[in-house]
Amino acid sequence: MAKEILECSFCGRKKPETSLLIAGIDAHICDKCIEQAHGIVLEEIKQTGNTDLLADTVLLKPKEIKSFLDDYVIGQDQTKKVMSVAVYNHYKRLLQKQTDDDVEIEKSNIIMVGQTGTGKTLVAKTIAKMLNVPLAIVDATVLTEAGYVGEDVESILTRLLQAADYDVAKAERGIVFIDEIDKIARKSDNPSITRDVSGEGVQQALLKLLEGTVVNVPPKGGRKHPDQKFVEVNTQNILFIAGGAFDGIDKVISKRLNRQAVGYSSSISAENVDKDNLLQYIIPKDLKDFGLIPEIIGRLPVLTHMDPLDAATLRAILTEPKNALIKQYQKLFAMDDVEFTIEDEALNFIVDKALEYKLGARGLRSLCEAILTDAMYDLPSSSETNLNVDKEFAEQSLNKNLLQRLKTAS
Ligand code: ADP
Repeated sequence: MAKEILECSFCGRKKPETSLLIAGIDAHICDKCIEQAHGIVLEEIKQTGNTDLLADTVLLKPKEIKSFLDDYVIGQDQTKKVMSVAVYNHYKRLLQKQTDDDVEIEKSNIIMVGQTGTGKTLVAKTIAKMLNVPLAIVDATVLTEAGYVGEDVESILTRLLQAADYDVAKAERGIVFIDEIDKIARKSDNPSITRDVSGEGVQQALLKLLEGTVVNVPPKGGRKHPDQKFVEVNTQNILFIAGGAFDGIDKVISKRLNRQAVGYSSSISAENVDKDNLLQYIIPKDLKDFGLIPEIIGRLPVLTHMDPLDAATLRAILTEPKNALIKQYQKLFAMDDVEFTIEDEALNFIVDKALEYKLGARGLRSLCEAILTDAMYDLPSSSETNLNVDKEFAEQSLNKNLLQRLKTAS
């Protein structure tokens, strides 16, 4: 009996006519039919909004999101709460089935206002880690209006594509963190005097991106030019988080509070105002008075602030987060079989120095480096198995290294 030639059960091609024929329970499918079927599935997802693509996005409840953030970010409770709700709503919006009612959940892009080094980037990074979505961190200061020296706003999406390994579907539900958004504030109240290349023009260009639109993105970045191939990226489901220090906005807030305090409808009396943390009273109008255009403010509807870091917070940052600095040093020393311990007084000393030299949380790392460099240099070649850092050790090592330099610099 002649040997039966297998064929694709879908298109009927004989096995020799295919590159690959895959066997099922009682049918076969060829490579070409698989490709075609894949195309149909993608098309179907696009048209029906079938969200199975999101199946691997874990949708945690706001309290769970906050508790995840708690493991990495110390303090900043208000921001963590606001962000948890915003992120939850954002992903609920992505998962909503297309229904006939006219209720369309709008995007909940976020703007965080807070001094540098208070954890804005850390919050964005932690959320991206939790959701397992790509994250692009971009600096608003490099953006300029199209046609000027600098980067077009589309470059933001190039970064996101790169973070998503050029998987467009993945990028389209990623997170973009735009740092230093305050630097593109309008410089003066009269926008018409000179062209404001890096200010209002960039804000205008950002608008469309924030709202949701299909953008032609040069996959390798750089300027757009006619023969370049573009990738289409839809920003509809991308979550934008903007952050900025907004230096001087405390004066805007304080002025407004003073005006309110004399008004009849005042809810905050002058003596109740916490002058050390005016950012907690921020409202969208303050951003407008600072120089953001109302349209941008409207497209970043979730406004939150970061608290300044006090001694107790800095102290906790050293030891409590999942990848706290001290835990990192312990791990490094353990690799050389050295048990590293540090006394409370030494930790307090580091915090005092960070506050004294206004180094903030970023300074903690350089202080620790300065204290531990000699030990990290010597111990791997010695037979020591313990390193205990007390206040005296910390003080001496610091004096020897960093403080001397800081003193001469200031
Ligand atoms: P920002 O974006 O506000 O300028 P970052 O998020 O870059 O600040 O913070 C700088 C570093 O300081 C972070 O890598 C982190 O180690 C530490 N840090 C700042 N704030 C916190 C915080 N609230 N909790 C834990 N670590 C923090």
